Amino acid sequence: MKQPDVVLIHPPSVFDFRDRTIFYGPISDVIPSSPVFEMYPVGFLTLAAYLRRHGYRVTIVNLALLMMRSRRFRPEKFLRRLRPRLFGIDLHWLPHAHGGPEVAALLKRLHPDIPIVFGGISATYFHEELIRNDAVDFVLRGSVTEPSLLALLRELEGDPQFQRVPGLTWKDDSGARVNPDTLPSRTLDEYDFDLGMMIGSVVNHLDFWTSIPFHGWWRHPITAVFTVRGCARRCVACGASADAFGRFMPGHFPLRRSPAAIGAMIRELARITRAPIFLVGDLLDGGAAYAYAVLDELKRSAIDNRIVFEFFRPPPAEFIGRIDASVRHWGAELSPESHDEYVRARFGKATFTNERMAEAIEAILATRCEALDLFFMIGLPGQTFRSVIDMTAEIERLFQRFDRRLSAFITPMGPFIDPGSEGFEDAERHGYIIRARTLAEHRALLEQRDWESILNYETKWMTRAEIVDATYEAAGRLNDLKERYGRISSHIAAGVRARLSSAKSIRKQLAAAGDGPLDPNIHRALVGEIRAFSEGTINDKAELFPSGAFLRNFRISGIIPFIARELMGRFRARTTKPSVMRTIRA
Ligand code: SF4
Repeated sequence: MKQPDVVLIHPPSVFDFRDRTIFYGPISDVIPSSPVFEMYPVGFLTLAAYLRRHGYRVTIVNLALLMMRSRRFRPEKFLRRLRPRLFGIDLHWLPHAHGGPEVAALLKRLHPDIPIVFGGISATYFHEELIRNDAVDFVLRGSVTEPSLLALLRELEGDPQFQRVPGLTWKDDSGARVNPDTLPSRTLDEYDFDLGMMIGSVVNHLDFWTSIPFHGWWRHPITAVFTVRGCARRCVACGASADAFGRFMPGHFPLRRSPAAIGAMIRELARITRAPIFLVGDLLDGGAAYAYAVLDELKRSAIDNRIVFEFFRPPPAEFIGRIDASVRHWGAELSPESHDEYVRARFGKATFTNERMAEAIEAILATRCEALDLFFMIGLPGQTFRSVIDMTAEIERLFQRFDRRLSAFITPMGPFIDPGSEGFEDAERHGYIIRARTLAEHRALLEQRDWESILNYETKWMTRAEIVDATYEAAGRLNDLKERYGRISSHIAAGVRARLSSAKSIRKQLAAAGDGPLDPNIHRALVGEIRAFSEGTINDKAELFPSGAFLRNFRISGIIPFIARELMGRFRARTTKPSVMRTIRA
């Protein structure tokens, strides 16, 4: 097999999770990933597409997923076979603070001559600490690193002058070198993904797992169009907020995708899949003209997939009406964070009253909207245990008032408050107590035995134990409410109830063991176990990501042209003289 030029590797959260006894907790019940965070950042797809357009072969390896799927899978054996010019590892989300550096150490042992580059939001924040790691050769800082990665690859081909690569942190005999930031981008339009490449990697190698985004993807191929990088909002715990990016991320944010580019991506996705398409980011944050222009694009696209809109504040009635007139099937997500208006305002996402929210819910449900999910959080400034419990009472009032299309989710903020965020950098002002500051300290937290000890924060209003107590108490109540008001079936509710009970029981037993050795039965139950006590314990994942039959969500007639184009491209590449390929690359 011809070796790729670049292999992008997504590590598991904790590298040796299969040998550890960790009670991860309900940190992944509202995201597609499992507790090992096997979903790779979308940046992998845009980086791969960008490099490919410039003549390079890129392979994505979802190492976390491969390790999850089989205990017999040996990462060392698998990685030994790869010999690219450059390995890339993501440290986008901080929960990979253990897995990322461990994979780098393994690669350096296997391939001491192949350089390793890190990238992502957390890598950018911790670039100086990361570059001190012997296994790390480069860190690419920034949220838009496609051109810098290309520049780095080109330097690796000749007589390297790494000081020419913008946004690169690297090292030489004199120590760490921090190059000037990359020039700011003005639009995201140049950075899209390449569905042909994804399909091609499956078809060419008949490999259904190495490059897919997360474990359940073939059954619920959630697809998303990221309309924005960075954010206009100021949520105090978020590392991508306006405050956080202003602090450490080079460039001007938020950086948006144009309405035309969003429309093109949606049409392309709809050709291959029937699955819902999430529009990530509140379109209205880009201004009314921008948001309406996106709706015009959607109307022109005339696709049947459900389009899911994200709202950070209740949208105006006129906009809701325009959505309804523009798309055939749609759903929405709104994140009030708390029922308590004071807590909501302190969190910083948006300030609005519950009355205003109820008006918007009413307007949305008066349309053809098929599902509206509300998201609430635990661990917010000013939020007490009592306030969390009151949240469930408020949700009950909403369930009584509105029909079954309205559902709700309550999740703990975790495992980490993001470095760079207001809550992390100015913790005292926001009532947070931060337990880890460095990358190494976060890595150490990830090795703890239970999620209460893994949290990197507590608040003035709730200890870590109270955050866990509040999570399980609220989850039990909300699960009962969903069953009573017909949001979920009794079968699903019973499943959540049983798993919640197991989670509470294992927590009690771990607490009883303290730092001492575990009872052999507990050890056996927990070793390498990522799901039993941590998944589906506060809600069933299928409430958000319903499973379909294998491949049923795909449109084979739409996939065939991609395969044909892919095979033609490969045939042409094989019959093209190497010197011509060089020219293309240059
Ligand atoms: S959590 Fe808040 S700041 Fe962060 S991306 Fe979401 S809305 Fe923006």
